Order: sequence, then structure tokens, then C-alpha cells
Amino acid sequence: MKHSEESALTASFADTPLARELADLSARRRALEAVSVTLPAQTRTITVSNQKGGVGKTTSTVNLAAALASVGARVLVIDLDPQGNASTALGVPHSADVQSIYDVLIDDLPLADIVQVSPESPKLLCAPSTIHLAGAEIELVSQVAREHRLRRALEAYLASTPERPDVVLIDCPPSLGLLTINAFTAATEVLIPIQCEYYALEGLSQLLGSVQMICKHLNPDLRVSTILLTMYDARTRLAQQVADEVRDHFRDEVLRTVIPRSVRVSEAPSFGQTVIAYDGGSAGAVAYREAAVEMLARGAAAENGKES
Ligand code: ATP
Ligand code: MG
Repeated sequence: MKHSEESALTASFADTPLARELADLSARRRALEAVSVTLPAQTRTITVSNQKGGVGKTTSTVNLAAALASVGARVLVIDLDPQGNASTALGVPHSADVQSIYDVLIDDLPLADIVQVSPESPKLLCAPSTIHLAGAEIELVSQVAREHRLRRALEAYLASTPERPDVVLIDCPPSLGLLTINAFTAATEVLIPIQCEYYALEGLSQLLGSVQMICKHLNPDLRVSTILLTMYDARTRLAQQVADEVRDHFRDEVLRTVIPRSVRVSEAPSFGQTVIAYDGGSAGAVAYREAAVEMLARGAAAENGKES
């Protein structure tokens, strides 16, 4: 190819949406390298919930956790889903013989006894779930203080651990049963991932109603602090419409950052990794890192607001 043809080709590529996207991505990566964050003065406990299945709860929990750890936060992920997908993605063993969050909830084992360090980072901790947790929903029914068992275990852990986590993220199952109620009672914040797809808002009023009930009867400190738009496909008008609609309803809660649909994000768990470790410069990883920085900034602003 002649030099003039080559440069014409390069020039026309530079004008394509893909080239613009790549240039934008490297600018965002550079901005993230330069960012400085303020860690919370007190541990923030955030439950990641949506009773709709497959909206990105687990994916968001583990990737936000890894992104937070990558900017220096100490993070504990509590895997409260019997599927154990968060434990898998964090590379933490969770076979049936491993002591898990089940033993904490049902047999009063201290949380410290089951917490493992993810091979990804010494700042990334995980309280794994095992298949036994599938029975916990029923076993909890007959337990004393059945709605408060996770809160008590977490309070005891935070009071005794020499290295207090800055953020605790709880990955919930896709239901509003006793496991999710335990998460709502233990947390002060709810993060709702919303998939930018048809029926995104379906069931949301039920979820908000449950948060209100918990607030009234079990945990007055609970509030929906964060909504995260996930699996956004910029090529479809539908994704844009859903995003606009959610922003109209929840102006203050929705993060500016949107998580794009990305093959890298969906591949990472099969390598027992988060996307931050698997391909930290990919569009999905960059978005989760931006979302983590945004959450810390909003938390710091809220703390300052309270003080002044
Ligand atoms: P469940 O309700 O079963 O717990 P969930 O809400 O935790 O599901 P995930 O397991 O995080 O949802 O995600 C559902 C599926 O969508 C998974 O296969 C995941 O890999 C995929 N997925 C999530 N986020 C993205 C993304 N940004 N891009 C591509 N695929 C994604
Ligand atoms: Mg899940």
C-alpha cells in the first residue's frame, strides 16, 4: 500500500466511532491514574440488591470491590447468595466443606473465622457462601433474632478486627427472603443495579417498598444510596431510554458512570477473577473503577455535609 493510501486509511479510521471510543477510553484511563480518593471515616456497609435475577448484582459487587481495593480501600465482600458466584469470582474456595456465612448465620461462628483473603489483593476479603446456604432461608425461620443475625455478626467483627474494612459489600440472592432481610438489617446503604433492558423497572417498587418496611421496623438507618445502570449497550435506543427513565425517577441516586455490556466482564468469572484483574484497561473495568471512585466521592461529600 502506498504511503498516501495508508495515511488516508488512518485518517478515515480516526473518524470512526470505534476510534473515538478508543481515544476516549485511554483518556478515561489516564484520568483514573491521576485520581485521588478519600476513604470513609467509618465503615460503609452497602447491600447490593434487586429481586430481579441476572441484573448484575454479583458482577457489580465483585468488580466494585476489586476497583475499591485497587484505589487503596480495604473491602469485605459478604457472599449471601447460595449460588456462591461472588466467592467464585473472587477466587475464594467455597466447596461444601469450607466454613462459610452459613455457619455464621446458623451456628453463631464468628465472621472472622470464615473471612478469606482474595488472591487478587490483600485488601480484598470475602466471607464465602457454600451450597449449605440454600437451606438457611428455611432454617433461619426458627432462629432467635432471625432478622438480625448478620448485623450482630458483622458488628462483632468490625469491633474486634485489627484492620477494619472501609467498605463492606453484601451480594444478595434474587429474592426478598430472610437472607436479603438480614443484609438490609446489617447495612446502612442499598445499591440497586438496574439492567438497561426491557422491564428494567419491573419489581422496583416492590423492592423500594421492602426497603421502606425494613426502615420502619428493623433498621431506621437504611436508605437507597446508589443506583447503578448495568449492561448498557450504546448501540440501542432502548438502553438510552431506560437510562433516561431511571435518571428521571432517581435523579440523586443514579451514578453518572454507566457499566457497558462487555464480553470481558462476562468472561472474567470463569477465570476466578474480577474484570479489574482480568483486563484492567478494558471498557468494563474502567467503568467499574470510575463507579468506585464516584461512590467514594459521593460518600465523602455526604460525610462533609453531615459535619457542616
Ligand atoms: P442473580 O440474580 O442470579 O444473582 P445477578 O443479578 O447477580 O444474578 P450477574 O450474575 O452479575 O447478575 O449477571 C448476570 C449475567 O450477566 C452473568 O452471566 C454476567 O456475566 C453477565 N453480565 C453482567 N454484567 C455484564 C456486563 N456489563 N457485560 C456483559 N455481561 C454481563
Ligand atoms: Mg448474583
